[in-house]
Order: sequence, then C-alpha cells, then structure tokens
Amino acid sequence: MFYKIAFFILCVTSAFSAEHVYLHTPNISRENIIGTNVGIRPFRKTGVRIEAEYIQDKLIIHNYGYGGSGLTLSFGGVQEVLQILENSNACPKTIAILGAGVVGLTTAYDLLDKGYEIHIYSDEWSPNLTSNVAEGIWSPLLDPKDFSKEKKEIHLRMLKNSKSRFLKSVGDSPEFAGVQRIALYSFKTKVSQESDGVKQSEEIIAHFDNGVIKNGRRTYELGIDGQLFMNDLNEKVKQKGAILTQCHFTSLEDILSLKESVIINCTSIGSVTLFNDQEFVPVRGQLIYFNHQKDIDYLYCHSIDNDPASSNKFFVSIYPWSDRMILAGVYEQNQDELIINQEMIEKIIKNAEECLSGNL
Ligand SMILES: Cc1cc2nc3c(=O)[nH]c(=O)nc-3n(C[C@H](O)[C@H](O)[C@H](O)COP(=O)(O)OP(=O)(O)OC[C@H]3O[C@@H](n4cnc5c(N)ncnc54)[C@H](O)[C@@H]3O)c2cc1C
Repeated sequence: MFYKIAFFILCVTSAFSAEHVYLHTPNISRENIIGTNVGIRPFRKTGVRIEAEYIQDKLIIHNYGYGGSGLTLSFGGVQEVLQILENSNACPKTIAILGAGVVGLTTAYDLLDKGYEIHIYSDEWSPNLTSNVAEGIWSPLLDPKDFSKEKKEIHLRMLKNSKSRFLKSVGDSPEFAGVQRIALYSFKTKVSQESDGVKQSEEIIAHFDNGVIKNGRRTYELGIDGQLFMNDLNEKVKQKGAILTQCHFTSLEDILSLKESVIINCTSIGSVTLFNDQEFVPVRGQLIYFNHQKDIDYLYCHSIDNDPASSNKFFVSIYPWSDRMILAGVYEQNQDELIINQEMIEKIIKNAEECLSGNL
C-alpha cells in the first residue's frame, strides 16, 4: 500500500514538475522508405587500442577498435596518438596512415596541422566505409565500467577532448559539416541518465501529434551525420595536401615494406588479419532510411526490454538528418558479414511502430 501511495505521489509530482513538449511523430510508413544499409561496429573486448609497438625498424602506433563510438571518440584518439608520437624519439618528416575511415582521417587532419607530411594508404574510401554508415549520435563506449581504471581515464579524456573539438563545428563558422547540437528525447531508457561527465537531462512529458503521450527525458546532444561529416573531412584532408594511395595490405610484410618509418594503423577490423588481433567482437547494425521529414528536428530514442538470453539487442532510434531520416534498432552480436538482414529490418520497423503508437 505504501509503495502504491509513493508511486502515485511521484507521478503527480512529476506531472507538475516536468515540462510538456509537443512533438511531430516521425512517419515510418513503408512508402517513405528510400533505402537500407548495414555496418559492423568494430568492438574489442578491451576497448580501443591506442599503443605503440616497434617491429623491425618501424614505429607502429595502433589506433583502432572504436566499437559504436568511432565518430564520438575520433578526435580524442588523435590526442592520444600525438602524445605517443611526442614521447617517442621518432622525428619523421612523413608519416604513413593506414586506413581512411573517421579514425584515419581525423588522425591525418590533425597531424597535417602539426606540420607532418601524411601518406594515407587504404583499400576503400569515403563514402563506402563503416564510418559513413554511422548514424551519428554522441555515443560514449558501452559498458566502460568493465574497463580497467586506466582505460576508464583514457576513455573520459578522449570524450572530453573530442567533445570540445566537435563543439567548434556547432555555430556560425563550423570547422566541419554535419555537426549540430540537437534535442534528444529518450523514453523508457537509461540513455539520458548515464553520465559521460558532461550530460544533463530533464524530465519531460511528450505529446506526439498522433495523440500518444509519454513520460521521458530530454537532453541536448551532439549529432554528427556520418555521411556529411566523412565526405567533408575527406575533402579537407585532400586540400591540406595528404598523399592518397589506393592499396590493399594482405599481411604485416606488406606494411613493413612501406618506405615510412612511422606508421599509424587505423585499419579497424583489418587488424585481425594484419596484426593478428583476436579481440574483436563485431556487432552488426541494420539501418532503414526514410524520406527527409522537415518537421522532425529531434532525436528519438526508446529502449526495449530485451530477452537477456538473446544475442540480438533491440532498441528504437530515429535520426533526422538533412537528406534522410534514419531508423536504427539492433545490435547483432558476433555478426561480421555485411548482409542486409530482411528479418531484422522488419523487426526494427515493427518495434518502431509499436513505440510510436504507444504500445511499447
Ligand atoms: C550501424 C552503425 C551505427 C553507428 N553509429 C555510431 C554513432 O552514432 N556514433 C558513433 O560515434 N559511432 C557510431 N558507429 C561506429 C563508427 O561507425 C565506427 O566506430 C567507426 O566508423 C570506426 O572507424 P574506423 O576509421 O576505425 O573504421 P573504418 O571506417 O572501417 O575504416 C577502416 C579503414 O581501413 C581500411 N582498411 C582496412 N583493412 C585494410 C587493408 N587490409 N588494406 C588497406 N586498407 C584497409 C578500410 O578500407 C578503411 O578505409 C556506428 C557503426 C555502425 C556500424
């Protein structure tokens, strides 16, 4: 009885204290679908690998394994790499960077600014990369509580450095395209309550224009449209004078035959073959693209109670970018094949329909 009264008081109090917000409902009807996409999040059991190793006469600095946080942490990772470089005795004129995803390109960009000549080697380029697939919400690494104290500190430092860098792209003269500050509404989810040390969220009562009313939370986040940001970054790295070479490395020997003595490895999952990294835990994501909807100017996140035994974790996230609206909704654990899974696509749409109609 006591709990029932306490719950009632809580509901009444929050109904008075929470702000009422009025939101347009995303239209996810099938005739609005303009495409689907798939990508592999390059998670590693022990998190991002940023460390140096000497092989023969080369200094190799690894910078990969960013999981579902590659856009978010990218510029923070570069600061760590720069620190390693400055602490080494190497004084290279030209540095080789392997890989042209967000990690390789942000590294190239900042090292070019520091005056290094940069030679990027890669077999694929924007727009055909995992980095372009990222929907682009500010995402600290999942579960950093399992990391060692040192890893947690590094993660927090990377987040802080990356955030202050991305904030330079919000406003009138952005450093990069595709970055904005945006309202994130989350429902039945812990997303807005988890702290990355910089977030604050407030309780809201959302009134959707389809008649659904939900209690939730609002926070203001950085949104990074992976496609726009990557294409712009790619152009800027070229304009700054990086040399680009298209090539596929099949082994470590290929890499050791490069003329550069300092090599930064940003090949992500390519490191399984090239550096025998056995720590990867690939997590596949399926995305559905809808027509751009001008009234949807906020991010929508809804967590779903998942069966703990299932290897697929479902959620509903909707991203309103300038040329498309993206619906995401699954972490397919241990899936490393780039295959659009129609069954998953259907399940994601069904989950989103249920959430938006107030049934979930
Ligand atoms: C569905 C999905 C949603 C995501 N959403 C977000 C999000 O909202 N926010 C966020 O921060 N992150 C998100 N991510 C994560 C983000 O996309 C990745 O962490 C990031 O793209 C990793 O970047 P990368 O540069 O390490 O890898 P990649 O983009 O994969 O680049 C690797 C590069 O290495 C090259 N390469 C690899 N092997 C070789 C070889 N043998 N020879 C030559 N070149 C090679 C490739 O061609 C490529 O250029 C998402 C990912 C997915 C799949």
